[in-house]
Amino acid sequence: MGSGLSKSLILKGLQCHKALWLAKNPPDFTLPEKPELQAKFDLGTEVGILAQQLFPGGTEVPFEGLSFSEQLARTRQLIASGAQVIYEATFSFSAIFVKVDILVRDGDAWQIHEVKMGTSVKDVNLDDVAVQQYVLNGCGLSVSKCFLVHIDNSYVRQGDIEVDKLFASEDVSLKVLARLQGMPATVEELRATLRGGGEPPVDIGPHCKDPYECDYIPYCWQHIPEDSIFDLRGLGVDKFELYRRGIIRLADVSLDELNPAQRQQAEATLNRQDAINLPQVKNFLDSLWYPLCHLDFETFDTPIPPFDGVRPYQKVPFQYSLHIQTEAGAEPQHFEYLAPPNIDPRRELIEHLLAAIPADACVLTYNQAFEKSVLRELAALFPDLAEAIEKRVANVRDLMLPFKKRYIYRWPMRGSYSIKEVLPAMVPELSYEGLDIANGMAAMQAYHEMCALEDSVALAELRRAMLAYCQLDTLAMVRILEELEKPGLVR
Ligand code: SF4
Repeated sequence: MGSGLSKSLILKGLQCHKALWLAKNPPDFTLPEKPELQAKFDLGTEVGILAQQLFPGGTEVPFEGLSFSEQLARTRQLIASGAQVIYEATFSFSAIFVKVDILVRDGDAWQIHEVKMGTSVKDVNLDDVAVQQYVLNGCGLSVSKCFLVHIDNSYVRQGDIEVDKLFASEDVSLKVLARLQGMPATVEELRATLRGGGEPPVDIGPHCKDPYECDYIPYCWQHIPEDSIFDLRGLGVDKFELYRRGIIRLADVSLDELNPAQRQQAEATLNRQDAINLPQVKNFLDSLWYPLCHLDFETFDTPIPPFDGVRPYQKVPFQYSLHIQTEAGAEPQHFEYLAPPNIDPRRELIEHLLAAIPADACVLTYNQAFEKSVLRELAALFPDLAEAIEKRVANVRDLMLPFKKRYIYRWPMRGSYSIKEVLPAMVPELSYEGLDIANGMAAMQAYHEMCALEDSVALAELRRAMLAYCQLDTLAMVRILEELEKPGLVR
């Protein structure tokens, strides 16, 4: 595209001039791959195609298979021939290239309908549409209205997807107009950045993660050492304010500037020292009983509800792992469920789970809010099982509690109470490293992949990896609890 700009490059430049410059002049630096981006892109395409049904009968200008100039020519041809609705209409003005999700003729003018996967309008979406209107106006088209079409997460699927209910449409014409006035100057400023004599001297700041996490963080943040102020967790001290004052290492912070939790983290890290509140750990352990069931769900969520009774982005469980101990120190028995591809797994999963967890057992989770909400949604969906499910919910306890409250804190936890940080600090010999699937997001992507796989060997291999990951989540809980129960620790 040479010195040309696309809509996404302009949005990148609005976030940070240096990010735009780096996108056009890639640094000699290997950035980590982000495999999840393709899945997100594919989902966006699926949502965009579904939204086209809001304005049926249009003609698409495809990206694949046509050069830029062919896409431009095809759009001109459709407009000239009186097309009422064009999907992915393509325009270029002042070497800025844009595609409009849905373009609708409105008398002598046109309406822009921009489709987003989110559930509300964000400022960055308004910039996005402003760039489109700027280019359309430059091409001599008049724009009567601009709309942001986004997912309405109050919709509950019953039967076929009702696109007019799945999507909400917001008229953002006036807000876009306010941004449009500044667009020529913005574009000129971005062009000047690209013409300038090298990488812009932009320092790191809150803009690195707002509105999007920048791709160049590993490159721009290389000078931040281990044990830095950016490791401090939670709200509290303004880390960029410290940074601007030249305070970067934890060792250089005045501890009086930190809130109690951050101060504890900083002191523990600097002195390589652990902390424990023995009575509180004992209280927590006393709140548990046997049989003890360590439970973990894996869920997926999508903007387009796949089954009846599901809202957009509702978390649908497709897998669980359960380790059951009959008494303290007993070797746990393992139970698991992973849904076959392409079914609504909820009934089968919950029946399987209820059969495995005794009604009077203590149900231990890590972050109880998540498991409780999944169980309660299943109770609402299956009234005949509600009483049995609610019994298990009432018996849920949370292994995260002693770490969240810092009844026990080990300095390698780096201020976090996520199981991914707690496990290596408590049980260093057990690790997620080396697993093909190593976090919940990857498990969710694996589920989607599983539903699309036809090769039975690949399917079996993927299922093996999914089961191994989920099993480790509950085995980790067993081992962490054992560590808490060690006689030397509390009794
Ligand atoms: S990491 Fe931050 S400073 Fe670097 S390009 Fe991205 S936004 Fe700009």
